[in-house]
Amino acid sequence: MTKLLSLIDKLEQNHSLTVEEYVYLIDNRTPEAAKILAEKADKVRRQIYGNAVFIRGLIEVSNICKNDCYYCGIRKSNRNCERYRLTPEQILDCCDEGYRLGFRTFVMQGGEDGFFTDEVLCSIVADIKQRYPDCAVTLSMGERSEESYQKLFDTGADRYLLRHETADSEHYAMLHPKELSFEDRINCLKTLKKIGFQTGCGFMVGSPFQTTAMLAKDLKFVEEFKPDMCGIGPFVPHKDTPFADKTGGTAELTCYLLSIIRLIHPEVLLPSTTALGTIDPNGREKGILAGANVVMPNLSPSIVRKKYELYNNKLSDGDESAQRKENLAKRMQSIGYEIVTDRGDVKSKKKEGI
Ligand code: SAM
Repeated sequence: MTKLLSLIDKLEQNHSLTVEEYVYLIDNRTPEAAKILAEKADKVRRQIYGNAVFIRGLIEVSNICKNDCYYCGIRKSNRNCERYRLTPEQILDCCDEGYRLGFRTFVMQGGEDGFFTDEVLCSIVADIKQRYPDCAVTLSMGERSEESYQKLFDTGADRYLLRHETADSEHYAMLHPKELSFEDRINCLKTLKKIGFQTGCGFMVGSPFQTTAMLAKDLKFVEEFKPDMCGIGPFVPHKDTPFADKTGGTAELTCYLLSIIRLIHPEVLLPSTTALGTIDPNGREKGILAGANVVMPNLSPSIVRKKYELYNNKLSDGDESAQRKENLAKRMQSIGYEIVTDRGDVKSKKKEGI
């Protein structure tokens, strides 16, 4: 335990460890170490964001995808996936409802669907920003060209989420078909950051073939890339994918890693993800207690929600639904946090004097 405690202290002080040290921290974790990490993560988060939990209205715009990621339920080869695409009007209707409910960030996420050309996507972003200038628009629409990202940024999109999925190129090749390259993914992330987006990376915990050394590389990548947001959630198998029989990730390890990431980047916006809520009924709360400060309730029209099934039993209604925000607020209050009506931008380290 002494070495573990000294590594936790080192991480708290320096916001950095070596890859070997991250491996040790993960492999030798104990419930006590997890508790200490979570307390430290909570302390730094409160220094910067207080007890605020930021909410984002998640609009799943399309489950049509040209990619064939082995883990994903909306991969193009899944014949059992009932495909849909929201019209620009439906997307704007979601924003109208979200605004009324108190959301000030709208996240448009979807498969890589050719319908969403730069022209179409820019026009939707422009309409949202015109209607709701006080709101942030986040896009999570996959890999696009630099020119495309630039146009979207110039039109007013504020943030872009693109999980790196794994920081190990060989592991990346085990999770994706050869048409998708690790280098392209990382280059997209660098481009997004260069353009000026608040940029989010992230990875799945417990994805097939993942080793502790790979997770340690993920942490090192997060440390060095310095994302504004970092989405991590457990891998959950989907019955109609090549990984249907693989074991899923755990809430325990996901929360442990959330605490570590909070200590690496105290100011990072860290969601307590739907996947975490799916595998554990108290997953959302556990994630927040471990250091997360964002939740992304579902704002998609209820008729399509079940169709955006990235993994088995993905939550989309009940307290996952944007319409049940008051319930979510109560759940957050019961553990000492407040949902706020705020864009919830990332705070810079410098301003906070950290
Ligand atoms: N197409 C966009 C992209 O590639 O970034 C956004 C949509 S993609 C479905 C969103 C995220 O879902 C992925 O980055 C991946 O990490 C996550 N995901 C997909 N399948 C999953 C699974 N079986 N378990 C957990 N997360 C999964």
